[in-house]
Amino acid sequence: MFDMENVLLRLALQKSGRLSEDSLNLISRCGIKMNNGLGTLKTSASNFPMEFLFLRDDDIPGYVADGVADIGIVGENVLFEKNKLVMEVHKLGFSKCRLSIAVPREVNYKGVSDLNGKRIATTYPRILQRFLDENGIEAKIHEISGSVEIAPNIGLADAICDIVSTGSTLFTNGLKEVETVFRSEAVLIGHPHLSETKQQILHKFLFRIKAHQTAQNNKYILLNAPKESLETIIKILPGMKSPTVTPLAQEGWVSVHSVIDENDFWDKIELLKDAGAQGILVIPIEKMII
Ligand code: ATP
Ligand code: ZN
Repeated sequence: MFDMENVLLRLALQKSGRLSEDSLNLISRCGIKMNNGLGTLKTSASNFPMEFLFLRDDDIPGYVADGVADIGIVGENVLFEKNKLVMEVHKLGFSKCRLSIAVPREVNYKGVSDLNGKRIATTYPRILQRFLDENGIEAKIHEISGSVEIAPNIGLADAICDIVSTGSTLFTNGLKEVETVFRSEAVLIGHPHLSETKQQILHKFLFRIKAHQTAQNNKYILLNAPKESLETIIKILPGMKSPTVTPLAQEGWVSVHSVIDENDFWDKIELLKDAGAQGILVIPIEKMII
């Protein structure tokens, strides 16, 4: 199928961690079959010109900048913190998290200026520095490599800046979240100077990613409606173009097929019912090319 002189696009993935499962899932949703690579450093695909490198997420921006990998999947937090010369190609919508500042629960925190002169422990000094600069705060950043949340308890810092998901780690350590510093999701990054052939492979990969993402955000909807409410119903359903309308065996009724945005779903269903729609079916879409 591909006549590309055996060129493979090399994708760097997190070996194991919070990006891994969704990254592998995305690849599989793109119809790319990975040869058994569990536990290995490198593997290839059996039906797409791609190979995979499994790395620590912190190393991915550097490897992509150096061209050891052509593209990679990494969190925006790591991408921004590492500050390597790579292209941000496409947002992937998973591994969403935020970096926040937290202080001991008993502190009466009134606002960002309370951070002046304080010591803040973090593994993200660059992101934190930008936040402090933007807010005109002078604080001392303590860069540490892990277990940031215990720093205030052992007297190493007055506050921390770390990834927050549920807040339960903060709670266990007697901390409370006071400022959001950065919002992050997984992104596809690329080496800035890919060969023509590699760019072509990347385009094919991106095309598939977008078809999968669009499908995920939409639902296929089928319903029955009395002919007299058809006009109202068509107004509720914008669809990709206009909805498909076919007559039912029962006189005066039609079947309407369309696509609706996942986010509008419940509001639309209510409106459709009020307009007289019956037998509403909503079906997930496997792939969607628009
Ligand atoms: P590695 O061993 O590869 O260095 P790690 O321990 O640094 O892994 P993980 O905890 O697996 O990293 O997180 C990887 C990325 O996933 C983070 O950089 C961030 O972008 C995202 N992430 C972190 N925590 C969460 C969370 N609770 N929910 C969703 N995404 C998260
Ligand atoms: Zn890491």
